[in-house]
Amino acid sequence: MTASTSLKKTLASQDPEVFASIQREWTREEDGLELIASENYASAAVMETQGSILTNKYAEGYPGKRYYGGCEFVDEVEALAIRRVCQIFKAEAANVQPHSGSQANMAVYMALMAPGDTLVGMNLSHGGHLTHGSSANFSGKLFKGISYGLHPETHRLDYDQIRDLVRKERPKVLVAGASAYPRIIDFDIMGQIARESEAHLVVDMAHIAGLVAAGLHPTPIPHATYTTSTTHKTLRGPRGGIILCSQERIKAANSLIFPGIQGGPLMHIIAAKAVAFQEALTPQFVDYQKQVISNAKSLAQELMELGFKLVTDGTENHLMLVDLTATGDGSISGKDAETWLDQSGITVNKNTIPNEKRSPFVTSGIRIGVPAITTRGMGNSEMKQVAHWIHQSIETRGDTEKLKKIRGEVREMCHRFPLYST
Ligand SMILES: *Cc1c(COP(=O)(O)O)cnc(C)c1O
Repeated sequence: MTASTSLKKTLASQDPEVFASIQREWTREEDGLELIASENYASAAVMETQGSILTNKYAEGYPGKRYYGGCEFVDEVEALAIRRVCQIFKAEAANVQPHSGSQANMAVYMALMAPGDTLVGMNLSHGGHLTHGSSANFSGKLFKGISYGLHPETHRLDYDQIRDLVRKERPKVLVAGASAYPRIIDFDIMGQIARESEAHLVVDMAHIAGLVAAGLHPTPIPHATYTTSTTHKTLRGPRGGIILCSQERIKAANSLIFPGIQGGPLMHIIAAKAVAFQEALTPQFVDYQKQVISNAKSLAQELMELGFKLVTDGTENHLMLVDLTATGDGSISGKDAETWLDQSGITVNKNTIPNEKRSPFVTSGIRIGVPAITTRGMGNSEMKQVAHWIHQSIETRGDTEKLKKIRGEVREMCHRFPLYST
């Protein structure tokens, strides 16, 4: 009996309510098409590590320099995680303690800026992230957040506009990276723009880290003062964050993570990061990321053939944005589409599109990503089928009976690609 199965048995008898919720979530994940671009299925080994005894250990500090005794074994796993992540991304140094991508960003901003300093990042409604200077977030409250948008016609990053903005605003930090951008980001140009105006480039590669790891998206590492990421999106590890930088910059980042903004590190998560990083160093991981890109292209192509308008008319990464204003009379909102698709067992999120006219709670688009369904083994022919179900679900305009029928078909296909089958 493995540790995890015995723990599961304990949970079932000790707390049947939580156990039942977990079982229901298991069935939901098993039976549905997970198309949220930021989600993925961590491996069984990663989950086993997350559920391990390492959760009990306090280890404030860093390997070899802890504030608590008994850290010799957690030191081993943290050192492994650091070594492996540096190998993946060809970085000199890393901090693997951030509890999340947001914490990683907070630490590097505080390492480079004082409160009130200016930060230039991508507009949230154009595909940026809350932590890139939004007024709703610490990044826009603690710092002066100025945002760049997409080119009004091409809906791609407009590097001339970004250069002009950086020259005018003279920020301390320029942030590159996005949560909903279907194209390659030119980190080389972003680095030049930052340096010309004596700003630091921070790259937040949260969404595309897996593609970068596999060499399928240009790396930001040589261009950025700090590169941050989540570990749970395309990188397919446990939920958490990382910071990558030069040897010279790591000290500042380390002291901002702890004692700056966090307390004790989550050693079970850091160990799970180490496991995921080893997975990311295998040829199978590279094949997986190639399939992610290929699947995204297939899905995008089929959706366009079915008449959908995609922002930038396609994708070069793991995600795409459907612009619903071009569907029918334009009355279908992102929220409608999300609700209807949910009823057919297809999980997406409503998303703002460039020049959005509706509120962020309604929106005119949906964001679709393929990392999770690619992990469960679906390939190009399944993508065609998925596109048809998306089309049919939206065509129903919310007809419950028709959505139920699609749901049955979706479930049937999902059962051919079981999660955690071994
Ligand atoms: C997801 C994401 C984050 C935040 O990650 P959390 O772990 O949810 O805090 C930061 N930046 C970008 C670009 C993201 O997509």
